[in-house]
Amino acid sequence: MIDAVIILSHRLEYGRWSDEYRNRLNLAIRLFKEKKIKNIILCSETANEDVKNFCIKEGIPAENIFLEKRSKDTIGEAFFTKKDFVIPNNWKSLAIVSSDYHLPRAKEIFEFIYPKLRINLFSIKNGEDKKRNNDQTNSLRKFRYLVRDLKRGDDARIEKRLFEEHNLYKNGGKKNILAIGAHFDDIELGCGGTIAKHIENGDNVTFLCITTSEYSGHDGKEIRKKKEAMQEGINGARVLGIKKGDFICFNGKAKKVKYGQELIEKINKIIDERKIDTIYTHWEKDVHHDHFAVGKSTITAGRHIPRILAYRSNWYTSSNVFEGRFYVDISKQIDKKVLSIRQHKGELSRRGEKWIDFVKHQNRNSGVEVGTEYAEVFEIVKYLAP
Ligand SMILES: [Zn+2]
Repeated sequence: MIDAVIILSHRLEYGRWSDEYRNRLNLAIRLFKEKKIKNIILCSETANEDVKNFCIKEGIPAENIFLEKRSKDTIGEAFFTKKDFVIPNNWKSLAIVSSDYHLPRAKEIFEFIYPKLRINLFSIKNGEDKKRNNDQTNSLRKFRYLVRDLKRGDDARIEKRLFEEHNLYKNGGKKNILAIGAHFDDIELGCGGTIAKHIENGDNVTFLCITTSEYSGHDGKEIRKKKEAMQEGINGARVLGIKKGDFICFNGKAKKVKYGQELIEKINKIIDERKIDTIYTHWEKDVHHDHFAVGKSTITAGRHIPRILAYRSNWYTSSNVFEGRFYVDISKQIDKKVLSIRQHKGELSRRGEKWIDFVKHQNRNSGVEVGTEYAEVFEIVKYLAP
């Protein structure tokens, strides 16, 4: 009898298990009932109470089900199951369950991590698919490069390599995000949903507003007061989930932001100090001069950063076309986003409800374009897939 079977995960679709994953699960449950295996290990995002309860309902005792939550891909599934369960329980035999197209790659990875164990392989049929096979070949190439000079089963060095080089595990798998806006309300309007989502996912987000955001009309009459703008900015950021220490204002003057060394160096300092890897900023062709000055300065400051996405805030149209091609599903964050915009009470009273309507409709339209409820859309300056 095999000590444990590892059911390799398959991505959740809108939080639901895929049919493919369900088939893997059913195969493992059958193996348990046929007394071929003693324990079941669930992995990564499918290592949750829902799946566990399903197994219990199917007759697997709770004490024979183990949840391995640290992994984010097949390499992690092999490594963390070993570290967290196989070694502590002194298990001597192992099986993996996956889909036919995934098994050759999984086999190579598991044999690298577990050189002393015989790995029994079980698979469900999924049929031939050229694209999927190409993906598997590419992933395997990446794996071979990751472990290029390491010895099989050298856990300490494999772990070090995972945390130093593998994008999913580096920095604990967290991203260091910088959201930049010229004025208080720009970030909320342009990328509030995406920022809230990053925070919900555990990423570190720095919220940077360049100006104190008070402004007057051309007649010199004060429209937005400094103190009011600042307080509304703090409230808006708080709704998105920004922590106090991650809220920064450069105290610049609205309508007077300039593209140039001073601003670029200040942004550079934040990028270096906070090890930023992803930036959201203004679209550099925005018609508001503060917006385009900030957008352009960010692109210069972020020239060594792997990901910069540009957003449009407010309803200013331009003689340039906004080439939004990068979508983020914010269906679950839209209410938070709207609430964060509502914190800007002064602006809301001047602009009226149509301000909120405009943003909501824009996000709704973007959502329809990609088959989801609400989405934010960005122009890509550059984007290295994490
Ligand atoms: Zn603005």
